[in-house]
Amino acid sequence: MSLGGFEVAVVGAGPAGSAAAITLAREGVQVLLVERGTFPGSKNVFGGRIYSYALKRLLGDSWKDAPVERFVRKEGITFMTSDNAFSVEFESKDPEGSFTAKRAKFDKWLAEKAEKAGASLITESRVDDLIMDGGRVRGVVAGQDKIPTDVVIACDGTTTGLARRAGLTSMLEPNQISMGVKDVIELPREKIEERLGLEPGQGAAHVFIGACSGGLRGGGFLYTNQDSLALGMVVGGDDVSSHKTQSYSFMRKLRQHPKVQRFIKGGKTVEYDAHMIPEAGPKMLSRPYTDGMVVAGDAAGHLLNNGYTFRGVDMAIQAGVAAAQTVLEARKKRDYSANSLKTFERKLHADPALKDMYTFHRVPAYLRNRRLYTVYPELVCAAAEAVYRVDGTGKKKISKELRLQAKGRVSIFTLIRDLIGGARTF
Ligand SMILES: Cc1cc2nc3c(=O)[nH]c(=O)nc-3n(C[C@H](O)[C@H](O)[C@H](O)COP(=O)(O)OP(=O)(O)OC[C@H]3O[C@@H](n4cnc5c(N)ncnc54)[C@H](O)[C@@H]3O)c2cc1C
Repeated sequence: MSLGGFEVAVVGAGPAGSAAAITLAREGVQVLLVERGTFPGSKNVFGGRIYSYALKRLLGDSWKDAPVERFVRKEGITFMTSDNAFSVEFESKDPEGSFTAKRAKFDKWLAEKAEKAGASLITESRVDDLIMDGGRVRGVVAGQDKIPTDVVIACDGTTTGLARRAGLTSMLEPNQISMGVKDVIELPREKIEERLGLEPGQGAAHVFIGACSGGLRGGGFLYTNQDSLALGMVVGGDDVSSHKTQSYSFMRKLRQHPKVQRFIKGGKTVEYDAHMIPEAGPKMLSRPYTDGMVVAGDAAGHLLNNGYTFRGVDMAIQAGVAAAQTVLEARKKRDYSANSLKTFERKLHADPALKDMYTFHRVPAYLRNRRLYTVYPELVCAAAEAVYRVDGTGKKKISKELRLQAKGRVSIFTLIRDLIGGARTF
């Protein structure tokens, strides 16, 4: 069957796809939003925190009816050995800068905004192929349905079949992705607030570095929902495959750590999910456009994970909007060739939020330094132990103590080189 009448097909009703559909539909474009899940967000996995600015820009005041679990007011980072931990916390003054959410509610809500703006959403419909005509994309194929359109926006996530089909990328290599796993652990809200030191209704985001990843390149996270904690790990794909590690084994290490135990004790695990993350960034694709198609969001590596902030959803929204704006300009010219759509890349570089992906382009390479997950967390914990211990045997000045603790773990030269590298990267 051929479904006609649509100018644009947006594939995937995640944050990128819905943001693109909203932007197009508002301008009166006939847009079809195609989602394979039973409803948008039904299968989507993430840690749990969304930076609000992207929604404010996209929706104005109506972002306020977003399905917020808790606004994040407390940030924390813990360096851990197997039996010790050194934590730093920060309390944000911004009451609404970021919030925790559940994707099953959030993606559904954002897709409804697209429908209200005039987009047509079809769910339980998987796009299997592109309609190709002499190297140009002319629409999508979903099961028995052929849907011809002027242009396609592919927002089909990390494992994007469409960018591959269009020849913009080949199979992802393990070193281009990370594996993310997450438990949702139910706990009464008062217990969550008491354990994380939160005022009623406030939320926290916490990251863990060190023993939890068992020497692998990665770390843990914890976000507070209203009545549950999202606890998870993100570990480099090449490490997972070369060490033949199972995701449950590093989750076990994280869960059993005394620091984490204090947060989750008595909780009931009600969900367990795993998903891939495109860590290689925008260079994952040779280019995010071709004749008749633009690629946005995770599908094009539009994500920034620098260890202490994880920005996938806000980046996906911004990229979806930029893709839609590119299409709107091309529509005016009636020219959807690659030459016309290449302004997308300029938009990505010019957008103040998306620009962060290029400003921090060295982050993935820097984070490959294994000492960040082994030597330094141990050093931080050992130095803290020595600095805070008073046992009457005589204390050393902190600088001397640090040098002593570093001895045998890392040379001063390497330490300084890593510090300078970090300062240049972040
Ligand atoms: C463990 C983990 C933790 C994370 N934590 C955070 C976090 O705390 N904060 C944050 O901002 N980001 C986080 N991220 C990243 C974030 O989830 C993504 O960057 C974001 O969801 C990207 O949005 P997207 O719309 O590009 O893709 P997706 O959210 O993956 O959406 C793609 C959509 O396309 C649909 N689809 C795919 N293929 C087809 C097809 N062929 N036909 C039809 N539909 C299709 C899918 O069902 C899905 O709905 C995390 C990711 C993981 C895995």
